[in-house]
Amino acid sequence: MKIDFTNCDREPIHIPGKIQSHGFLIVIDQDFIVRYHSENLSDYLKGLPNVILGQPVSSLQPLIDRNEPPEYISNLIVLGKTNGFQQTNPFNAHIGSKTFHLIISSFDKYYALEFEPSESDTGNDIQRQVGRSISEMLTDRNLQKILNNTVIQVKKVIGYDRVMVYRFAEDGHGEVVAEAHNPELESWLGLHYPESDIPKQARELYKLNHTRLIADVNAEPANVLTEADNETPFDMSCLQLRAVSPIHIQYLKNMGVASSFSISLFYKNELWGLIACHSYSPMFIDYRSRESAKLIGKVLSSSLEFKQDEEDQQLHDKFKSAVDELTKLMLKDNSIEDALTGHQITLLDAVSATGAVLVFENQIFKLGRVPNDVQLTGLLHWLKTNITDSFYYTSKLPSAYHDAAFFKDVASGIMVTTLSREMGEYVIWFKAEQLQTVTWAGNPEKTGKIESDGTITLSPRHSFEAWSQTVTGTSLKWSNEEVKSVVRLKSEIMYAINQKAGAIRMLNEKLKQAYEELDTFSFTISHDLKNPLSSIKSFAQILMRDPDLKPQTLKVLERINNGANRMNNMINEVLDYSRIGRSDLVLNEVDVKPIIIDHVNELQLVYDVQPGAVIIGDTPKIQGDAVMLSQVFANIISNAVKYSAKASPQKVLIEGKDTGSEVVYTITDNGLGIDIKHLPRIFELFNRMDNVGDIEGSGVGLAIVKRIIEKHKGKIWVDSELGMGSTFHIAFPKQ
Ligand code: ADP
Repeated sequence: MKIDFTNCDREPIHIPGKIQSHGFLIVIDQDFIVRYHSENLSDYLKGLPNVILGQPVSSLQPLIDRNEPPEYISNLIVLGKTNGFQQTNPFNAHIGSKTFHLIISSFDKYYALEFEPSESDTGNDIQRQVGRSISEMLTDRNLQKILNNTVIQVKKVIGYDRVMVYRFAEDGHGEVVAEAHNPELESWLGLHYPESDIPKQARELYKLNHTRLIADVNAEPANVLTEADNETPFDMSCLQLRAVSPIHIQYLKNMGVASSFSISLFYKNELWGLIACHSYSPMFIDYRSRESAKLIGKVLSSSLEFKQDEEDQQLHDKFKSAVDELTKLMLKDNSIEDALTGHQITLLDAVSATGAVLVFENQIFKLGRVPNDVQLTGLLHWLKTNITDSFYYTSKLPSAYHDAAFFKDVASGIMVTTLSREMGEYVIWFKAEQLQTVTWAGNPEKTGKIESDGTITLSPRHSFEAWSQTVTGTSLKWSNEEVKSVVRLKSEIMYAINQKAGAIRMLNEKLKQAYEELDTFSFTISHDLKNPLSSIKSFAQILMRDPDLKPQTLKVLERINNGANRMNNMINEVLDYSRIGRSDLVLNEVDVKPIIIDHVNELQLVYDVQPGAVIIGDTPKIQGDAVMLSQVFANIISNAVKYSAKASPQKVLIEGKDTGSEVVYTITDNGLGIDIKHLPRIFELFNRMDNVGDIEGSGVGLAIVKRIIEKHKGKIWVDSELGMGSTFHIAFPKQ
């Protein structure tokens, strides 16, 4: 497989078939027979026999360390098998005049014998310094400061030119979060790298081996040889000397790095990041020192765990107290929107967002940086038609909703909680696009090197660009704490809404009770009034039958009778009025023509109207309740007739018009008219104008009319002037 930048995540870096050439390797099987060895064996061991593969390892023994007995390797293996190889590693092997570290490990059915120089190039005794460094590292409480201390201490101990803490984000990309470097070097702090820079399989290896040394990027690796018939791929995952992927080597070369060393950092058993060290000249760190560096990683990892938990807890507390405060305000404040957006603590504090909107009761309340009105309208429409869940969040809005690409700078991430889908009510939080305009510190001209085979083009500049491309249109992730906070806030908002709805329901209930009481009251009153009234009327009529009555007395009795009649009418009208509010509408298409004609005929008799004084024009049908419509026309036409009775010639015109959306009737008379200053009150109960004189009436009719028309969702208005007649307009909507 040809490996390049596009497929390096599939590069089998654990079976490179090569080792770094600063050491050598012999692999033996359970019977201590040599099955693999590195080609550079002869560089280290003088006088090698011609055939090594298939031979017992003891045959090499005199070349490795002539002072040790022939079985010493097999003895070490037996010891390591029982007690663990960490007890025996490293074993000092004296080859020629030099001392080597022998590091033994087991894998599959084999044992790997790795030989490395026993002394570091750094000249420092890391083992001795590590204890002090660790206590220096931990002098601060704050996580960032601990990381800063760590890079300073590690740099001091191992002497590399640049030491960084490189942190993996959830999506696998990395960021330099702490750095110590030689003064002549530029800072890489804050730079982001795409996931492909340290692909998944490389991260897996960092989990297996907690330190990793590339001693010399420019050294030619040594091949690992095996017998011709042995085709088993050789898994080097756990080997110290495992050669480096050519892509990674090229990457380091492009950066001018000659040697790199890394220490893995863990958070709850997951790879959290690396302490990454670069040297611009080859640098070897011996096994013991690497083991000491591991300790730094371990201590930092556990402190990380503790500090990270502490910081998570602080964030949790911050969100919680914001939600608590908002809850308190919602229950105290009459307006939910004001509680959530109008105080010092707002919706924005419930999560780590850059903007928020509350869409509630047909209004939009905005906080922080949010899309503009047109963009918001589009987003709300998209939400309503596409998001069926009552809770939705993404850190890549533009890939779900393409129009969001136009406002990705403010809203690459959204979290939405639906208050009411039917009414389109939401709370939406926004996170801005995470891409920051960080410029790469390296020299751009030196980058983008294309090899002759056209494959490797990796460079720091490309890394940053690649990362930029992967994160365009994405925001920082929504954390679990944020999700939890919003879920809690939503339930508090719903509770507050229900409480408020409950209060309205309670008011409704009270109103209903009041209505019922009023009903009983009107019935009782009218019943109690009607009985004595009819007695008065009957007695007056009996007395009136007496033929010997003086004309004076008869007149009085007639007045009593008329008064009783008027009172009876009034009681009936008040009852009618109180009933309208509760009676159900029976909607039909009503032909009002016969109704109008009936009323006009009756009025002509009562008021002795001249023929032709009342003209009926077009009478379109009305959508309404026949009984109630009859009441409307009876009242308005009778007013028009009675208040224009003295005009000569009297003129009353009744006509209707269908405007398409409604039917509008106008009833015009040339009677008394109404003083303009009284117009606003004529639809109120018991209001009669001063100019009516002795014209009979109760002041209830127009109040009944208005109530009926409102029940039909119609309108009533009047044009009138004192002495100039009146025109009443009534409009009924067409369903
Ligand atoms: P009433 O029983 O007094 O007619 P209404 O409620 O029907 O009671 O009318 C209220 C008042 O409005 C009347 O008393 C009268 O002063 C005034 N009004 C109503 N219609 C007319 C009209 N067509 N011309 C003059 N005044 C009117």
